[in-house]
Amino acid sequence: MRKYLFSILLMLLASCVVASPTPSPTPMQPQAQTSAPPRVLAVESFLADIAQNVAGDRLTVETLIPLGVDPHAYQPTPRDAAKVADCNVLILNGAGLEAFLDPLLSNASGQLVITASAGLTPRPDPQGEHPEGDPHFWLDPNNVIQYVENIRVGLSQVDPDGAAVYAANAAAYAEQLKALDQWITQQVANVQPERRLLVTNHESLGYFADRYGFTVVGAVIPSVSTDASPTAQQMADLITQIKATGAPAIFLEMGANPQLAQQIAAETGVKVVTDLYTHSLSAPDGPAPTYVDMLKYNVSQIVAGCRS
Ligand SMILES: [Zn+2]
Repeated sequence: MRKYLFSILLMLLASCVVASPTPSPTPMQPQAQTSAPPRVLAVESFLADIAQNVAGDRLTVETLIPLGVDPHAYQPTPRDAAKVADCNVLILNGAGLEAFLDPLLSNASGQLVITASAGLTPRPDPQGEHPEGDPHFWLDPNNVIQYVENIRVGLSQVDPDGAAVYAANAAAYAEQLKALDQWITQQVANVQPERRLLVTNHESLGYFADRYGFTVVGAVIPSVSTDASPTAQQMADLITQIKATGAPAIFLEMGANPQLAQQIAAETGVKVVTDLYTHSLSAPDGPAPTYVDMLKYNVSQIVAGCRS
């Protein structure tokens, strides 16, 4: 971070020199550019943390979307457009999660775009409205091993001298992800299989459910995105499903509007758990400051919510 701020200061200084009244050539600039480390920008905070684990001390990964903000509905600012245009490496999740980026990328040129989910096979969107399928791969840590590999390849391409460092970092982090998978499996074993039932705000836990033996009963917003609202019929169907299956709770991601969930809870008697960190990390002093913490925290909430 400090290194990054320092390079911003240098850039500001350089622009002051350029803006000075006496026009003069700036022979220092090309040299400064070749020695500056590549600027790496990840779209989501959890993706920045994953990428930082691969980058280690060699590069600083910045985050585009502020903490707690929904990537599905994100409205980029002019400052965001400048950040995207100025970075050398842009890391995005892909599979349709970041539709807002398309116009920004059409203006950008020269940077490497790493699609973290490239090579993974998406679950189909249950409603068929999102042809790219379900983008929430990262909620199963086994998929994140593929993210790590894609990020390793991309960083090694822009910084070949760091390739061995990135390979070692990626291998060490993949071990952490495998340990996380084992930890989740152990935690979930505390929930009887017939109570492993998930109702969520939108269809975000499909990969998680597939991996750990849960059934997705339904979602308040029956979509793999948050860009829709349920019809009265869809709400009624979800209430019927919850009553029929005995699903014990509705799990909402941090920041989601709880009103509809509370309405459903009033009719079905289920609990509403409102603070899963599915699309963003928490602040550093919160319960989910890293990707691994984020999954551990969610699993603790899900296990507690399904058991009681
Ligand atoms: Zn989502």
